Amino acid sequence: MSVTQEIKSRLDIMDVVSESVSLRKSGRNYAGFCPFHTNSRTPAFFVFPDTQTWRCFGACAEGGDVFSFIMKREGWEFKETLQHLAQRAGVELEAFTPEEKKRRSHADKLTDLLAAAADYFHQLFLHAPQAKQARQYVHGRALAEPTIAAFKIGYALDSWDACRTHFNAQGYSDQELIEVGLLTENEEKGSRYDRFRNRLMIPIRDGDGRTVGFGARTLDKEGLPKYLNSPQTPVFDKSHLLFGLDTGKRDIREARQAVIVEGYMDVIQAWQGGFRNVVAQMGTALTEAQLNQLKRYTKRFVLALDADAAGAKATLRSLQVARETLDRDVDVKFDAYGLVHHEGRLQADIRIVTMPAGEDPDSIIRDDPGRWPQLVAQAKPVVAYVIDVATQALDMSDAKAKTAVAQQVIPLIKDIADPIERDHYWQELARALHVDERALRQIRLPEKPTSARSTTAAKPAKKRVNGWTAVPRKVLANGHTVAASMKQSDYLGQCLQRPRLIHLVNERLVRCGQTAVAEADFHDPEDRAILRHMHQWAAAGGPAVAVIEDLWDILGDALTVRAQFLLSLPLAPDAELERLADTLVLSVLDWRLEKVRQLLNEVKQFIKESQMENDQDALAVYQQQLRELPLTVLQINKARNAMSAANRRRATDMT
Ligand SMILES: [Zn+2]
Repeated sequence: MSVTQEIKSRLDIMDVVSESVSLRKSGRNYAGFCPFHTNSRTPAFFVFPDTQTWRCFGACAEGGDVFSFIMKREGWEFKETLQHLAQRAGVELEAFTPEEKKRRSHADKLTDLLAAAADYFHQLFLHAPQAKQARQYVHGRALAEPTIAAFKIGYALDSWDACRTHFNAQGYSDQELIEVGLLTENEEKGSRYDRFRNRLMIPIRDGDGRTVGFGARTLDKEGLPKYLNSPQTPVFDKSHLLFGLDTGKRDIREARQAVIVEGYMDVIQAWQGGFRNVVAQMGTALTEAQLNQLKRYTKRFVLALDADAAGAKATLRSLQVARETLDRDVDVKFDAYGLVHHEGRLQADIRIVTMPAGEDPDSIIRDDPGRWPQLVAQAKPVVAYVIDVATQALDMSDAKAKTAVAQQVIPLIKDIADPIERDHYWQELARALHVDERALRQIRLPEKPTSARSTTAAKPAKKRVNGWTAVPRKVLANGHTVAASMKQSDYLGQCLQRPRLIHLVNERLVRCGQTAVAEADFHDPEDRAILRHMHQWAAAGGPAVAVIEDLWDILGDALTVRAQFLLSLPLAPDAELERLADTLVLSVLDWRLEKVRQLLNEVKQFIKESQMENDQDALAVYQQQLRELPLTVLQINKARNAMSAANRRRATDMT
């Protein structure tokens, strides 16, 4: 099995695609709006779990596997994509350079160390006599065994060196323990000691389930801080992490909504209560990096704020006190301005719900799980929430106070990206303040906001580069049979050794009304990448076969294996390039024909299924294909006949 096959066998294309495309089930497939071309009318983008492929039946008329999807989405080359997917799939790649190999093995070692630490603390929690208080605490929170196991809840001994000694004995150096934040170093005193002592240990995992750090809760009533997190490390970056994403991502996708809470315990309790689309921000303001991660699964976020939390207070403060105060307040968890910007930039739907006073998601779910979904359903859009909070305690006879509220809320409204929504909130605010909307629109605002919140606001939107332009061509299927695959290998092998063939084959294809050989013609991601390189060489004059060593440098280790195989294929005995090109063109047409036919069969099957499910949207797309595909077959056949005739003529001429 090649490394790409190995990676593909371990990943589900559904997981990868639905990070950025919202999909709905359609028969045994999934449909959504194509992320590669602008379209909001017909969901013409399909994912086929059976074959682990995707295809856009719209303007792109393209398809592929998980590799081509990521390459297009991220604008990456094959090498980057391979590294990304290999890591995700837990497949080890042969390191490319000694330095890289060293760096990677170091990173792996740290990841292993963190995983081992999670196990170590968990075992202590389960069995150590000293962990009795920790177990009582967890018992008091009504957490059951499966929950404790799922989150690997642990305990750190009340000792300055137990953890250090344990891992030193396992071959980890102090330096490594410091790097992952398990050991603290006091450089002045030259002392080193365990960072976590007598604490309940909650492993924090990234979206892929790797332990990257810990949240540690004190077990002393007076203990401070209440929660001690791992320090910032290369793998532990709070602004990029969401607690519970690894256990919750599937449910977030299914629920089409992510609920963001404040505490680890809230997530754990919700998970136990069966509400698994819940994640926690990491004690900081919600960042765009966090929302971007969540956006892979849904664009609808509900922020569940504790009523007594700094967040809600900050909201009120921001609306009652001068804005300068808020500007200086760096520890604002809930920042309406930031959220509205996030919302516009991410095209997301962010809503807010406040927990009843004195309660948090943890206590609510523990006391009466049925109340949780009711509360979440009451979530309000950010601006509506702010208007609500701001006008709740407002004295309607105090004109100055009304102006002050208006001055706070108006910038928020002006920041809303959508004009209809913006209009809606002008009306809403006018109503809430009992004033005329025209008067409201004439209010002069204090000077432009600066500092904390505007840093979020002023940052230019990060533009996604797709590295992808839609080429209107009809390369359709991505079907894969052994015969087609052999023909493709043959084509690449011949062209690698005789680069001029690329041009000769394309010339012939275009002459008979077909498109030039393109990446989409190939099934294997390696082949697509090799073709891309071949085109680059051809444009630059092409490498002579003599300098095959250079080729390895360019391709990198992963593609080299495949290229070596392609070069080992027997060269066609007919060394005359024109004749060889004729044969290869027929071969290209053959595999194209095979793909379209296969697609046609699939489409017929899908039509039956969508009729049974009365899925009109999908049916329309498939029926369109049913009309178009036979035409494509016809065109390929026509080209094939033309080519065969030309070949026969040439053969006759030569005799
Ligand atoms: Zn498309």
